[in-house]
Amino acid sequence: MSDTPSRLELLQFTRRVVEQQARASLGQLDRWIADEERREAERRQAEERRPQPPEWLIERGLDRTRLVAVHTADCWDPGKRLIPATREQAREAIRQEVPACSKCRPDTRLGLLE
Ligand SMILES: [Zn+2]
Repeated sequence: MSDTPSRLELLQFTRRVVEQQARASLGQLDRWIADEERREAERRQAEERRPQPPEWLIERGLDRTRLVAVHTADCWDPGKRLIPATREQAREAIRQEVPACSKCRPDTRLGLLE
């Protein structure tokens, strides 16, 4: 028996070193993946909590009490003094004879007209 390690022993030693390094790298990668998954989940939650923009707008008159028109939220000419409204509020306003805007036709969009 000589004191110098055999080629086989060197190869086995090298294999153990490479295996340890690979385990460490995988552990690091798994932590990065876990961190990224957590950030991704937080982004999704923040996105869900963000208030949704209103779909409908109700325009008030100059006296601020009279309702003068119902608009869709993407109307290109919605006027000023707007109140965000739910679909139900927009429907109700039109039922109460608040005029539907002639530009964005919320009555059509609400299915109140054919
Ligand atoms: Zn409009």
